[in-house]
Amino acid sequence: MRSPYTLENPPPDEPPREVLVPSLWRVQARWWKRHTPALDQRGVKHPVCSHCGQSWPCHSWACWDGQLGQAVGGPPVTGRTEAPAPTEPSRVLALSGVDAEKH
Ligand SMILES: [Zn+2]
Repeated sequence: MRSPYTLENPPPDEPPREVLVPSLWRVQARWWKRHTPALDQRGVKHPVCSHCGQSWPCHSWACWDGQLGQAVGGPPVTGRTEAPAPTEPSRVLALSGVDAEKH
């Protein structure tokens, strides 16, 4: 997912309170900032990453941004927890089906 951070509003060096692993945050925030366009690139139409030279947003930045987004919480986290839920009722049904056959 996208983090709430932008070039104008970069992630803080010190993790927000909701971040579970502060040491990981510091690494992620550092790489997020490395994979951003240089200052003279920021006004142009097709900026490139100052670290890896790819057109920006580069792949690495997107990865770090996604990790920061997860660290501060967001919709994909709830979406992921919903995913296992549908398997529960079907498993219960299958078990009860086996049970019914026995009797
Ligand atoms: Zn990059």
